[in-house]
Amino acid sequence: MERKNAWKSYNEEERTSLFGLGERYREFLNNGKTERECVKQGVEMAKARGYRDLADLIAAKEAVKPGDKLYSVCMDKAIMLFVMGEEPLEKGLNIVGAHIDSPRMDLKQNPLYEDSDLAYLDTHYYGGIKKYQWVTLPLALHGVVAKKDGSLVQIVIGEDENDPVVGVSDLLIHLSGDQMQKKAAEVISGEDLDLIVGGAPLEGEDKDAVKAGVLKLLRDKYGIEEEDFLSAEIEVVPAGRARDFGLDRSMILGYGHDDRVCAFAAMEALFSLKETPKYTCCCLFADKEEIGSVGATGMRAHYFENAVAELMGLTGGYDGLVLRRALANSRMLSCDVSAGFDPSYAGAFEKKNAAFLGRGVCFNKFTGSRGKSGSNDANAEFIGQLRRIMDDANVAFQTAELGKVDVGGGGTIAYICALYGMNVIDSGVAVLSMHAPWEIINKADLYEAVKAYAAFMKKAG
Ligand code: MN
Ligand code: MN
Repeated sequence: MERKNAWKSYNEEERTSLFGLGERYREFLNNGKTERECVKQGVEMAKARGYRDLADLIAAKEAVKPGDKLYSVCMDKAIMLFVMGEEPLEKGLNIVGAHIDSPRMDLKQNPLYEDSDLAYLDTHYYGGIKKYQWVTLPLALHGVVAKKDGSLVQIVIGEDENDPVVGVSDLLIHLSGDQMQKKAAEVISGEDLDLIVGGAPLEGEDKDAVKAGVLKLLRDKYGIEEEDFLSAEIEVVPAGRARDFGLDRSMILGYGHDDRVCAFAAMEALFSLKETPKYTCCCLFADKEEIGSVGATGMRAHYFENAVAELMGLTGGYDGLVLRRALANSRMLSCDVSAGFDPSYAGAFEKKNAAFLGRGVCFNKFTGSRGKSGSNDANAEFIGQLRRIMDDANVAFQTAELGKVDVGGGGTIAYICALYGMNVIDSGVAVLSMHAPWEIINKADLYEAVKAYAAFMKKAG
């Protein structure tokens, strides 16, 4: 049952559109290094294609009809896009879900200090990272500062080639005898991840003059005072652009493939729909997946359910029972990256059930760890339907587990949406070096993911 490498099947025309897709995706990654930046791009892309804000229609009590295109944003960190189908919502939606948060470091609320003539910003990491990977890299600051007067200051420092970058230092090898004996989990501790942001004392200052210099810069350039960090969300991410990877340009090296590659593929698929779909189609991009889908913008919150309820209100009237039916009758691809088989670490994988780079979009019947603990386990009947849809649309797909049984595990948003009783399966793109500052995907898998998600939205149900 070995799956073929998708590249083998492409003609010249397909290769051209595959490389074009890769370029658009790199641009999306470059402009989307935080969930907020991804939402912003999602709104811009949607508006440019005639999508309207659901909130405006609610305010105007405007009726929604088949073919209408809408978007809805939750706290600027999660977003949903809808194309209304011919069938009533009660028959269920075809949902392609993903998450747009990625592992990183966040600034603490009281981050700025000076030590030994260096100014630092203290961080608290977000999501599962190997902390030793985040030292000696050029890092950038992205985020917002909410001022007391209600204004929001947008920050992006370290991406323009003329910008300075910041970063975390590591101990020189010459003095690392003790450090090199430590376990990898302990080589760099969470509390060691402090960013160096300044090294020149401000003229005329005696105490903490370097810190004073940094504060002056922030005041002059952004109008920010030290107290404003209390109400800031500033994410520390790898500085620089996504690049073609491999001499043959077959892959992309980028920050945040997990899970922006699936979000991007889902939007490409939705935007490719030419006719009004039979069932309402939805792209659902959640925040906070990397820390358990918690909080108001995580998948466990109710914004998706609420948005569907609002749509129902604008398409003939809200009914609680009908809403439950709509959710239970829905079909969903929970799109998240898969662990790509890595020959250098072959021992962690079981080769018959691993995802290979270049062999197409992955379907994971279950995730979880050990005895499938914490998994959504997709129904065989649903997978049977998907196999037909994928084969009919000529999609290269593979099935995979997350590594060897007992080696580890992980979860996605699948099990949360499954609580409504809808059919859900994990599906995504294989990644090498997942959760590292720079992750790797194969362009063919992105290309096949777009095909798969489009076919699913058109044909599932
Ligand atoms: Mn993920
Ligand atoms: Mn992840």
